[in-house]
Amino acid sequence: MIIGITGFNGAGKTTVTEHLATKGFKAYTVPELVEEKALGNGTHCVIDNITASTEIETLENKEDFILLHVDAPAELRFERMIAQHKEGSNYEEILAFEKEELETEDEQKEQIQTLARKANIVLVNDEDLEELYNKLNRMVLDLHKKYGKKETNWDDYFMSIAQTVAKKSSCIINTSGTIVVQGERFLTTGYVDTPREVNSCSSGGCSSCMSGVHKEQVVCLCVGSEENAIIQAAYYGISLKGATLYTTTSPTIEAAKAIINAGVAEVVYNLQYPLNDLVYSLLQEAEIVLRQCGN
Ligand SMILES: [Zn+2]
Ligand SMILES: [Zn+2]
Repeated sequence: MIIGITGFNGAGKTTVTEHLATKGFKAYTVPELVEEKALGNGTHCVIDNITASTEIETLENKEDFILLHVDAPAELRFERMIAQHKEGSNYEEILAFEKEELETEDEQKEQIQTLARKANIVLVNDEDLEELYNKLNRMVLDLHKKYGKKETNWDDYFMSIAQTVAKKSSCIINTSGTIVVQGERFLTTGYVDTPREVNSCSSGGCSSCMSGVHKEQVVCLCVGSEENAIIQAAYYGISLKGATLYTTTSPTIEAAKAIINAGVAEVVYNLQYPLNDLVYSLLQEAEIVLRQCGN
């Protein structure tokens, strides 16, 4: 998240920047930010005193860039400017300073007003520091909710892994991937392949697949992804009791039987192929939760 701060002199931009620094925002100038390549790497940054639209050209299209316009009534801003300049100054110096500030503001007014119109948030700083900090704290909380790290959708996360596993399938007819998890922990994975040490399907290991049609009299040697995940668990002595099985294609009847007997509690599939009524009723009868997760 990158917060760019704009506003007229005396509005409190620097105070805002300093407070954001205590909330984990690192202060940068625009060139520093580009130089540091902090853009888009998840770092929370704040850029103080943006005075022209050209400064934020490279940032404007970023979805986590927020332009914050700090505003305060003119009277109050002048009071603050004089207060800031008070030490060691005489009245003439204060007047000269104020005049200079006003002239500078005149020159910049159009630019700042353009920025104010573009601002995503307008923060009115017309009370004491405590109130300003309260407003900023609420703003930071809201921004974290909106732009912060998205909550992990575990279904999408596990299914995307199953889809990656599926790419390892050696079968020339069926491609499928399975991952079995317990809570958030991986237990095993499986993809469609011929048995261990047997010539792979893509190298002609299965004559049924080679023929292009699965005929009843020719047994397919390829092992489904769900069965391979379950067999791998047996190979390494891992219990799948109560586990959740994510699979890219809905289980076959053979896979469903193995899933039931392995003690799997839940099956999540992506593509409905070929989920027939028998598979559905079998899993239902075995009290296994079956649901589809689309992505
Ligand atoms: Zn095959
Ligand atoms: Zn085959």
